[in-house]
Amino acid sequence: MSLYPETPTKTRWLVHMHHRMRTASLALMFVASGMHIFAKNYSAIAWALLAMLFLVYPHVQYWRASRAVDCVKAELDNLLLDSVLLGVFMAALEFPLWLSFAAMMATLTNNAANKGWRAVPKNLLAMLAGALMWIAVRGFKFSPDTDWPVTIFSMVGICGYVLVIGNAGFARNLQLRRVREELRTREKELLKANQALVINLQEIEELQQQLREQATRDALTTLYNRRYLDATLERELASCKREGKPLSLIMIDVDDFKKFNDRYGHQAGDECLIAVAKTLQASAKRASDLAARYGGEEFLLVLPGMDATTAQRLAEELRRSVEALEIPHEQSHSGKVTVSIGLAVMTNDSYKDVAGLLRAADEALYHAKHGGRNQVRLAAQTRRAARVAESVAANLVQLVWHPAYESGQAELDAQHRALFGHVNDILAALLLERPIDEVAALIDTLICDVAEHFEDEEKIILASGFPGAAAHAAMHRELIDHAGYLVSRFKTRDLDRGEPFHFLAHDLVARHILREDREFFPHLSAQC
Ligand code: GH3
Ligand code: MG
Ligand code: MG
Repeated sequence: MSLYPETPTKTRWLVHMHHRMRTASLALMFVASGMHIFAKNYSAIAWALLAMLFLVYPHVQYWRASRAVDCVKAELDNLLLDSVLLGVFMAALEFPLWLSFAAMMATLTNNAANKGWRAVPKNLLAMLAGALMWIAVRGFKFSPDTDWPVTIFSMVGICGYVLVIGNAGFARNLQLRRVREELRTREKELLKANQALVINLQEIEELQQQLREQATRDALTTLYNRRYLDATLERELASCKREGKPLSLIMIDVDDFKKFNDRYGHQAGDECLIAVAKTLQASAKRASDLAARYGGEEFLLVLPGMDATTAQRLAEELRRSVEALEIPHEQSHSGKVTVSIGLAVMTNDSYKDVAGLLRAADEALYHAKHGGRNQVRLAAQTRRAARVAESVAANLVQLVWHPAYESGQAELDAQHRALFGHVNDILAALLLERPIDEVAALIDTLICDVAEHFEDEEKIILASGFPGAAAHAAMHRELIDHAGYLVSRFKTRDLDRGEPFHFLAHDLVARHILREDREFFPHLSAQC
């Protein structure tokens, strides 16, 4: 692995720094060695070689490294060559102690500083190899003494060199610290920019969401728009068909809305549409229900999985809710804003496509308009299906009078038969899920009739001498009290439909009329 990652700046810095160091240190060596060979009276060739090694060589090395493809590697190889040449130089001068020491110190320090400890033995070997090459050619000679000026100069040179290396290390450290600081600052800035970017992305996401919403919503009423409806209705219809479920479509049109606009102004017209839309939205209670603005003052309610009876009740409630808004409309029949509603229900054997279903709802709406407005009309096919469903539901649980139930007392039997019929009406109303007020009114009437019947019955059984007459009258009171309690809870919607059903079919008819009443029948026949 390279010690220096290849970036142009670092590479240039290394080659330049070494060039400066090598030039300066070898120039010092030139002076020290020059003094030595001068003192030793060496030949001119020695001077020439000295000049080549110490003055020319550093520039050749620089020239080579700066042109190399991998200049870092070339520069590190230069260090090895430095060692070889210095080995040759030491052997050639017969190992002058101070000069050899200075040369060795310089090259080892340089290698350790650039390549670490691993380079030191390698460079010692390189120096040794250089020295041995010279000895192999010229033989080994050893004269370690140097003159004191050379010694002093060598000492000063070594100190100077080590100080320069130290200073270069310090300068490099300083530079690294600054770079690190700068990196940290940039990192913080980057982090901030990144956070800002995240916030921006969230804003963009929210805006996109808003845009998506706007593309599917009507701007005035915020209900789904026609485009969304067209895209969804087809899918909903197909899904209901697949699952064998019905799909109810309620088409709503504000009555005499043009006159409303003319009388109260367009702004008031808009507010009126918003109010109607809110009522419509409140009717779309289930997650799958869809309320949409179909056009100007026309709306649609799509109710997947809802059958005709339930949808008809919902449409009726919706009609009443709009009426209950009490928005004044002088030019309409009722004096307030009302809506006309057309209902069509897709079942497995009706309306094969969306267009057919829409057409049927539109026709029903047309009939509602022509029937006098402010009313709900069912499409013909839907009406037939609803009638069949109603008759099935109404006949599901019915009490059937049997001659075996008769006591033989004509008045009593007639009243019991009438009560059966009355109870049947209420059971059917409960099964058909008629509005609670309607059922409660039926139960109220029944309680009055039952109270009258109990009075008559008590007179008859008292006259018959039945010993349990008082106890029987107490049962009557209990039944009436319980009926009163149930009806009051039923009216406040505290009770579901099952309890009145159970009271009528079980407590009143099966237990009382068909069992408890039979206890006094033998006394009546005795009297007869
Ligand atoms: P009908 O009872 O038969 O439905 O009569 P109508 O007057 O309600 O029906 P018509 O189709 O003749 O008129 C609808 C009016 O609704 C005409 C149009 O100006 C008005 N309208 C449609 N869109 C808007 C709207 O966004 N804002 C307001 N204020 N009026 C609208
Ligand atoms: Mg219209
Ligand atoms: Mg209208």
